[in-house]
Amino acid sequence: MSRLKKMVMNDEPQLVAPGIYRLSSTIVNVYFIGLPAGPWVLVDTGMPFSAGQIRQAAESLYGLDARPEAILMTHGHFDHAGSVEELSRSWDVAVYAHPREFPYLSGRCEYPPQDPTVGGFGGQMSRVYTNKPYNVAERLQALPEDGSLPMLQDWKWVFTPGHTPGHVSFFRERDRVLIAGDAIITMDIHNPAGLMGGHTGLWGPPEYFTPDWRMALKSIDKLALLKPKTLLTGHGDPLSYRGLDLDLVQFADKYRPPLHGRYIPYAAEFAEDGSVLSVPPPVNDTLVTVLAGVGAGLVGLAAVYGAFKLNSNRKSRIEERYRLHRTTIDLPWNKRINRPAARSDRQYKPVTYSLMRKKRYDVEDR
Ligand SMILES: [Zn+2]
Repeated sequence: MSRLKKMVMNDEPQLVAPGIYRLSSTIVNVYFIGLPAGPWVLVDTGMPFSAGQIRQAAESLYGLDARPEAILMTHGHFDHAGSVEELSRSWDVAVYAHPREFPYLSGRCEYPPQDPTVGGFGGQMSRVYTNKPYNVAERLQALPEDGSLPMLQDWKWVFTPGHTPGHVSFFRERDRVLIAGDAIITMDIHNPAGLMGGHTGLWGPPEYFTPDWRMALKSIDKLALLKPKTLLTGHGDPLSYRGLDLDLVQFADKYRPPLHGRYIPYAAEFAEDGSVLSVPPPVNDTLVTVLAGVGAGLVGLAAVYGAFKLNSNRKSRIEERYRLHRTTIDLPWNKRINRPAARSDRQYKPVTYSLMRKKRYDVEDR
């Protein structure tokens, strides 16, 4: 199966750690936590229109009409919360998130605008993404303040803001399994080969959607210090190998935010409840500049062509007028010189006469 086909059509949930299944839907992952016989929870809800695929995967794992104990949200971006409204309604379950993510899961506030000016393929793609909130206000529950997860005894949640104001990760200390959401990803989401699963590695959060880099870097450090043995992320394949924890520490040390963009050097500001207070003004958008340049060039060319066309029209109008003019004028004039015989040679010099004859022929030839 080609990578592209696999990426789009991979309907089978895959066991990625004891009691944890990953469903890769388009380019984003959702996770099922729970043994096939027992209760289970869903982490994130994929893209819009993924509800059917997720329900199907749940039934293949947990049986017909399977229903989770809860839905846990790492954050509310459209590729993670896309199906949260439909799934939480059809299952009638609570949706757990950090309170600072509530504005974006209760329809109260849009995320800060995405930033295509970070550049790259991913940046350009982000132009068509949405920063609109979803609304599951009736089912929204705050994660317990002590970091525990009531429905998952041996798990805790970790506050990892930056990518969004209320972004969280989930960690199972027993075997050091980390679900990092978009705080760290294992897919090079910024280039086409990476999006098709070209290579697996460690990357920071999707750049075009990260409005606070200082916090995002702190969160990467925080996750590296957990020294996970298995890393499961919002985008990309699972990573689990001896030395992953050291690689993560090294990655946290070396990782740098993009060089330029709307949220560099100034971050978006958020209120205490997580809603947007202010965003920095947009910066020079290369694509828009290029498009504006091309547009101005085309307008210039059109103006030159128009002037040329106008001038040539004017010229042909004058020529036409001149032609008509000459015809009407020439004829009586020519008639006059048709009667030279009566005049004396002194009045009509030969050279003038031959010129006049030539003019007469011109008229007759036409
Ligand atoms: Zn995200």
